[in-house]
Amino acid sequence: MSQVSGRSNQGVGNVPLDGQQRSGLADGESWLGGERVCIDEACRLSDADLEKAYACSLKGAPNDIVPPAWLKAFPDLQRPRGRAAEDECGAWRLSPPLHFASARNLDLKAMVERTRALPAPQESYARGRVKVTYALNDIVHNPPTTTVIQPGGRTLDGTIDLNLRGVPSRVQRLAIIAEDAITRLMALDLQAPAWSAADPLEIRVRRPDRFDSFDGWTSDVVSFIEINPSMDSVQDFSVVPHEIAHRFQIEARKMNGKDHGGLCDSIREGGARLLEDYVFDRANKYVQDAKFHFQNPEIGFFSGTRPYATGLFWKYLAERYGTTPEDPSGLGVYRDLLSVVKQSGYTFDALREMCMGLGTRLEDVWSDFLLKNLLHNLSNAHAYREEHQAPDSGAGGAGEPLSALTVNLAPLTIRDLAPWAAAYHEVPGAGRRKVALTHLTGGAMLSRGIHLDAKGQVLRDFPVPIGAPPAPVTVGQGERLVLIACTVDVAARFQIVVT
Ligand SMILES: [Zn+2]
Repeated sequence: MSQVSGRSNQGVGNVPLDGQQRSGLADGESWLGGERVCIDEACRLSDADLEKAYACSLKGAPNDIVPPAWLKAFPDLQRPRGRAAEDECGAWRLSPPLHFASARNLDLKAMVERTRALPAPQESYARGRVKVTYALNDIVHNPPTTTVIQPGGRTLDGTIDLNLRGVPSRVQRLAIIAEDAITRLMALDLQAPAWSAADPLEIRVRRPDRFDSFDGWTSDVVSFIEINPSMDSVQDFSVVPHEIAHRFQIEARKMNGKDHGGLCDSIREGGARLLEDYVFDRANKYVQDAKFHFQNPEIGFFSGTRPYATGLFWKYLAERYGTTPEDPSGLGVYRDLLSVVKQSGYTFDALREMCMGLGTRLEDVWSDFLLKNLLHNLSNAHAYREEHQAPDSGAGGAGEPLSALTVNLAPLTIRDLAPWAAAYHEVPGAGRRKVALTHLTGGAMLSRGIHLDAKGQVLRDFPVPIGAPPAPVTVGQGERLVLIACTVDVAARFQIVVT
């Protein structure tokens, strides 16, 4: 059993926790499947009570019957909990720390299988390499859909056999989407699980319990995927391929213990976002995720706070380096990334090594990615789509103001940036402008000024060195001057002076 980082996006009352809080357990505490647990107290419980307490912690504890010993073992047992709003995946749910499982000599897999069994009566529906199991009382009997369904741009009309033999159309839809996603991901040459009609991927349709919440989830502790029955078809087209992408990742990677600053979460969730979007290109969910980071640069892009956001970065890498006639999607780059981290761990050094293999320093790739976001306007839902030019060519879908990313610049501004964070500043007004940067504290920064013409084409792309006397830029009517400031490994505080 391999360990995945067990703390992504776990939040209380829909308040996302930052990386430090999430990992900030008290002495003697650890995580068991997304639940805070006091190891000593948990070890005093019998196996049967531990399992019951754990099941309670997943389902929500009845208020009056929780034995005090259970509460000591699971300090959050009676607190109403919810996932962070942005965590539709819930992969943290079953990400137990190895040391706790081994301390109790638990057969964690068996325990999880028992606590996640579907209520009777249940049915199943098999189709190709997929078997959907569902509790009859949970499934929504959707009326036959009249919507044209287009995963990855292909129409499934005529294929969907609605209400075949009484199987709810919702169940059939899930099976068709899953089978389609498997076929498309298989074509990427990712290391693939050996699903077959005889040994299919199981999709459990489960209504979340009282304190539970997810659209879909899976984990390397289990072999199945769970899907929330109350999603609509558009959500299904994103969430089902997303969870299947996790099954491919589980096959491809083995955690080797090194995880620097949330990179494991980023490669897992951001990568699943990338693969999900490859299967179903309409959703572009990572654009929303990424906006959060550019509006909150005090939170690092790879910190694991919104690991889904990094899908945009992996997409950039794929489109910058990967697209060839043999691999038009460019997703071979992500496949290579999985194999690099499998060898070297989830570290920035591993990422650096991969970028050097592609011919560029990671720092330059990062800075170019930030420029690409500016030129391609993240408020456009189809950021990057069908754009394969080098970012510094200035070509592409520029032209609209990037209001979502841009903070208008006061004459004197002090900003704090987390490691691997970026802030976009637009210098307001036209005329002769000078922009200077003063480094106050922290690590090295990369900053560049971008002068755009009225059509959004790059007139000039120039470094803005820290402390150097600024060169004036004459900004014409309708033109824009944008400063992109970013950090790499170390947080920084800096001051911008505009004259
Ligand atoms: Zn996920």
